[in-house]
Amino acid sequence: MKTGERTRASRPSAARRADRTPRGVRARLRALPVTVLGAVIGLLAHGAMLGFFAYFGLTVMVWVNVLSLMFWVVGGYLALRGLNGVGIAVASTEMVMHAVFAAWQVGLGSGFQLYLWSAACLLVLNPYLRSDRALVAGVLVSIVFAVLYLILPPGAIVAPLRDIQSALYFLNALCAPLPIVFVVIMVRQTFARQQKALRAMAEHDEVTGLFNRRHGMSVLQASLDATELGDETLFVVLCDIDRFKSVNDVHGHQAGDRVLAHVGRHMASALRSDDMLCRWGGEEFLMVLPGFPADAIRDRVDALRDALAASCVGGNLPKVTMSFGLTRARPGDSADELVRRADALMYEAKRAGRNKVVDDLQPRVVAMPTIVAEVPANGDQP
Ligand code: GH3
Ligand code: MG
Ligand code: MG
Repeated sequence: MKTGERTRASRPSAARRADRTPRGVRARLRALPVTVLGAVIGLLAHGAMLGFFAYFGLTVMVWVNVLSLMFWVVGGYLALRGLNGVGIAVASTEMVMHAVFAAWQVGLGSGFQLYLWSAACLLVLNPYLRSDRALVAGVLVSIVFAVLYLILPPGAIVAPLRDIQSALYFLNALCAPLPIVFVVIMVRQTFARQQKALRAMAEHDEVTGLFNRRHGMSVLQASLDATELGDETLFVVLCDIDRFKSVNDVHGHQAGDRVLAHVGRHMASALRSDDMLCRWGGEEFLMVLPGFPADAIRDRVDALRDALAASCVGGNLPKVTMSFGLTRARPGDSADELVRRADALMYEAKRAGRNKVVDDLQPRVVAMPTIVAEVPANGDQP
């Protein structure tokens, strides 16, 4: 429908407007890749060099820097578009071109050839370049560096710059390693991002966004280790959606996934900061509640069950209920035992008619069979 399209289209522009707040601008600046910052520095540096060479009348170097500026504009644009790899390749090419021309035109005494080391590192560390190509490019640039020393007189510099030779060499020696610093930071950032994404994938369930069973088990184990099971309480709740198969059968698997997500959201909304909820598997969820007041836990879980039964999944899907098994960790319990107990209680709740909480918090009263002594027919005492 058109209305839907208009609504969807209006959202990003509203978000963009909201992003113009100082906070939004700061956040967007922080999100800019370090390569964009590198490109800005490259532009500023070559703008300054252009002025410098123009002042000393070195026309060829003025044109070389005009070319360099064009390279950095392209590199910056590519980085802004997220094409960091190509951007870095463009920047490295510019550095090689500028270093070779400067060494040839100004002399090795200027130190401009030092940027070749940076260019070689940039090429090798470029995470978007295939390793074999990066290796060849890095070795080639190193060879170019050595050849410059073979064919040009070391320490020589053009006449107009003779008076400032040591200052110029110092400046170049100082600045030449900076691109390496930038690109290593970028590689680190990429690595950290990938690590974070991998960790999130390894710990979370895709359908509900909750922690998965593996992570849930490790949190339960850690909670058990941390809890000194004396006064400190540690409750475990295992719950299972009632008659979930019929949701799938009647409404389809995708609708079933929506129900799972709804249940996950509902349960998560009841969590305190120290609680943990995970999707245990299929349509089962596990909650770990450390330090919950013992006299209030039963009512809390019952209220959660009640609220879920009253909640609407939406999209014409039926209301959903769950059966809960609630137990408390006892000294000497292992995580497996604890879950096994909660699981057995949950199945008791199923057998008792579903949409119920069964716990083992109070000692159970077991009805003893009444033994009636048989009295002999003749009336004698046995
Ligand atoms: P009970 O009240 O006894 O628990 O009955 P039930 O139907 O919930 O239990 P049963 O074990 O018979 O069926 C569970 C169903 O859950 C079967 C399976 O297809 C479905 N299921 C498991 N994982 C997923 C999932 O990720 N997505 C969807 N849509 N369904 C799932
Ligand atoms: Mg079920
Ligand atoms: Mg089940």
